[in-house]
Amino acid sequence: MAGEDGQGKSGSTTTVTVDPPMVATSVISSGKVEESSLPSDVTFGAKVNFIGANFTDKEKLLAKFCFSKPTDKPVNLRRTFHIIIETPAAAGKGSPTLTTFICTGVLKANNEIDLIKVGAPTNSLPDSAAIATIDKRLNGFNISVNGFSGDEASAVKMSLNVLTDKELERMKDLKVSRGTTGTGNDVGGHYDQARHTVEIFNEGMVNGALLCLGPDPAKLLPNCSHVVFHEAAHVLAFLEVRQLEQKDQQAQRDVDAQRAHLRSTFPNNYTETTNADGSFSFSTTEAGLSATDKTKFKADVKDLEKKMDAAQKTNKAFTGIKETKMMTEFKTASKGQATVTPYSRDEKTKAEASKDDEKIRGAREEFMSEAFGIVKWDPAWLQTNRSAVKGYFDGGKHLV
Ligand SMILES: [Zn+2]
Repeated sequence: MAGEDGQGKSGSTTTVTVDPPMVATSVISSGKVEESSLPSDVTFGAKVNFIGANFTDKEKLLAKFCFSKPTDKPVNLRRTFHIIIETPAAAGKGSPTLTTFICTGVLKANNEIDLIKVGAPTNSLPDSAAIATIDKRLNGFNISVNGFSGDEASAVKMSLNVLTDKELERMKDLKVSRGTTGTGNDVGGHYDQARHTVEIFNEGMVNGALLCLGPDPAKLLPNCSHVVFHEAAHVLAFLEVRQLEQKDQQAQRDVDAQRAHLRSTFPNNYTETTNADGSFSFSTTEAGLSATDKTKFKADVKDLEKKMDAAQKTNKAFTGIKETKMMTEFKTASKGQATVTPYSRDEKTKAEASKDDEKIRGAREEFMSEAFGIVKWDPAWLQTNRSAVKGYFDGGKHLV
């Protein structure tokens, strides 16, 4: 958030750090504003409902101020603000006092704005004993977390630990690593299917360890959790493709092994030529073979033909897959439902404008991934606002 930087203003006693991490939006920003620079009021031309106990006038003003800042205000999307009020100590009396509270703003379909005081976060990142337990669980699925600094690593592991056994099982052997910069739409994170690696970039780790996701202050998750969940959803979506690819590679290895066997066992009877397109052909002759070897040779050649046939089929299945089972299910479940975040909404708009089926399928996967993030940190929101999508995850349709 672009807050005013009031450095150098004399006489102010309170600094307000307005730190609205991403919650159901793809915008991450933060800012700091001097109390003296705060407007005396913010009006929206809409009714504002303040919800939550002990919402002080100052907090109400801050909540309104924070909510007024981002220009993009999608209807029915929660935006959460993590507000740190910094009160300087008296001259020569040590560090400033920091008090933190979290509030959420929602522009509703009836044009009213709900500003909800969530309260102060009461949990913290897992301690080393808890991390050891999480490590053990992740090791059980051979999932590794690499290259993150201490707090970031804890935040990422805490996020992965939210996933169910069934979900982690389907992500087996995954490497989660810290990248630096992504390109294009992959600024938060990226899943590379070929390397079975999720990378979380700088943008995905902005305020990564800050506990701010969720409606219950006692159960908040780190800000980076949404990105971790989003990428995990891509991993799940790719499982079927990966399995088909592995089958295809295995079938190709079987063919190669049989070719090698024929070349070494029957060097005078089996000859290969490489075609212009890189594929191979072979010719055979039974000249000079004993009756027993002839039988063996025939069987081996037949076996090669069988393996080539199988490889052609697995390759067709792998290269020809248009939509996985879980995404076909999601297509049905999400039919007629609006996307869940500005990011997924924008991806859908762009894809539909392109009229490219591949892009439309990609945008649908982004919708699913964003919804998967939200179902992990605010299932109640998804239940209220996109019940069919919530039902998709509850029914395990993302694990088919
Ligand atoms: Zn994505």
